[in-house]
Amino acid sequence: MKVVLASANQGKLAELTSLLSDTGFVCVSQGEFGVSSAEETGSTFVENALLKARHATVLTGLCAIADDSGLAVDHLNGAPGVHSARYSGAGATDEDNRQCLLTALAGVPVDQRTARFHSVVVYLRHAKDPVPIICHGHWSGSIALKPRGRGGFGYDSLFLADGCSKTAAELTADTKNRLSHRAQALASLVRLLRCQGNRRKGE
Ligand code: IMP
Repeated sequence: MKVVLASANQGKLAELTSLLSDTGFVCVSQGEFGVSSAEETGSTFVENALLKARHATVLTGLCAIADDSGLAVDHLNGAPGVHSARYSGAGATDEDNRQCLLTALAGVPVDQRTARFHSVVVYLRHAKDPVPIICHGHWSGSIALKPRGRGGFGYDSLFLADGCSKTAAELTADTKNRLSHRAQALASLVRLLRCQGNRRKGE
């Protein structure tokens, strides 16, 4: 089944496409339909993921999958959270945001730099779908003292997953796709869709 991926973030699109590769979905990014990014006016990952998915499905007429995600740092009371993509201001680059995070945590000892990534994935069958599927995944770890690694995107080069000596940017794409918040959320979504499909076949 053809599905539109409601994101313009290239790092995220690569991970979503790879994670959905053996599920039977034919993934097309919203950019390929000329759909621009939805305004993220929600105050939760759930609201923003719904906004993105609805925007993409309204404009393409296809089922949509959206991910709204971010990093919550305990010492910063959950910041940057839903503002992760624009932590250092409108038009921020990943590099700007990482620098902003390191500045906010300057002088904070290693054992107080705990954090987790969250991903909320929404699946909408059509623009007026009254029961969107909403799945959440998280990935716990801490924030390194300086960036390391070249893979991934966003805050990956600062994120040390629990029990792992490498930053997320030093992991292979396959390893990140086994462990990450996004992998967990999508695995739940795929499980739910399979259950619903099996139930329908049995009806
Ligand atoms: P949004 O979901 O488009 O609002 O953006 C999420 C932001 O959170 C990204 O721009 C990254 O800064 C950060 N983020 C989310 N997931 C990841 C990840 O897997 N690695 C690194 N940063 C991430």
